Amino acid sequence: MKKIKLILYFPPERTDKPFTYHLVKDYDVIFNILQAEIQPGKRGRLTIELEGTEENIQRALEFTREYGIEYRPFNKNIVRNQGECIDCGACTAVCPSDALHMNTETWKLNFDEKKCLVCELCIRACPVKAIDVNMFE
Ligand code: SF4
Ligand code: SF4
Repeated sequence: MKKIKLILYFPPERTDKPFTYHLVKDYDVIFNILQAEIQPGKRGRLTIELEGTEENIQRALEFTREYGIEYRPFNKNIVRNQGECIDCGACTAVCPSDALHMNTETWKLNFDEKKCLVCELCIRACPVKAIDVNMFE
């Protein structure tokens, strides 16, 4: 099984069509929506994780493009340097997805990468520069 993250760009005429339904039903691909900015009749953006066999993902991507939805890989992630972190909690105040939160028993920072939207707000919020963004292929 393979997992990929993508940003999908919906043209206005596609925002109210059953796109994700086809991914599951026709291509046997599991999807997880990470962030959605979709309104009927307007250009939309969806950040999504797809999981399936290599072949099914490839077919799902071909369908996506033929359906009129452009996409690009979501090819970066957030890296926290635990040695630098002083557990001040400043980054948790700006994190929109609760990927960063304080453990209230240990008062240590927890980072749940699966929830991260890579919005990069935490990078600027960190006073000791313990958070960075990593680009990959
Ligand atoms: S990049 Fe955004 S979503 Fe991810 S941990 Fe930082 S603030 Fe939270
Ligand atoms: S803002 Fe920086 S130092 Fe403070 S808890 Fe977050 S990562 Fe650690």
